[in-house]
Amino acid sequence: MLKTIEGVVVSTTPFSENSKIINILTKDGIISVMSKGSKKVNSPLRIISNKLTYGEYTIYYNKDKLSTLKEGSVINEFKHIHSELSLISYFTYITELSSQVMKENTFEEIYNLYIKTILKIENGFNPIVMMNILEIKLLDYLGVTLSLNGCAKCGSDKDIITIDPDAGGYLCKNCYTNEVIYDEKVRKMLRMYYLVDIDSIKELKITDYVIDAINHFMTVYYDRYTGIYTHSKKFLNEKY
Ligand SMILES: [Zn+2]
Repeated sequence: MLKTIEGVVVSTTPFSENSKIINILTKDGIISVMSKGSKKVNSPLRIISNKLTYGEYTIYYNKDKLSTLKEGSVINEFKHIHSELSLISYFTYITELSSQVMKENTFEEIYNLYIKTILKIENGFNPIVMMNILEIKLLDYLGVTLSLNGCAKCGSDKDIITIDPDAGGYLCKNCYTNEVIYDEKVRKMLRMYYLVDIDSIKELKITDYVIDAINHFMTVYYDRYTGIYTHSKKFLNEKY
């Protein structure tokens, strides 16, 4: 049966001298497809079978066995992302993260959030901010949503003074012991990240210290609560 799918090649596995299996992240999860002869220089399948290609793929779909790629076309070349090594690193991490979350749940919303995030980075939006927005939204699917409406310990919405990765959200004055203080600007922006519709983002006016504080918070929280480990995030943190 012929089937057309849209997605991003998240990994490839060599198969014989000239072929490889490509694993495509789609709205229905990861689909593995045999791309015959795609390692040959003149193969029409060569470009679209490269890792991190965002394309439309027509496949001979086989429910129980490996599907085979017939043809494909690139949807977006991500020229801006591919012009900067650091942006490729963010793209790699975001792809790895989304793939891992999709392994547990094949929700179309996760795929849509992932693509929207990548498109914003391609359009020049700050990759750290976009990465953190995606990370905070994915927490819902990982079952570890932050408590951002009231104190994570007592539930009170009065006298909130910080947000704490160990507590899992806001902390009020009464429950505070000696946690790091994230001021109101940081807390408001973090909540905005969670609530914002990615499509509606037209510009980002966020000071560097707020960006850094949120990124630090998200890194600690992910390490502690999500059980997600990606090689690419480790690399990002070492390098930037
Ligand atoms: Zn409290």
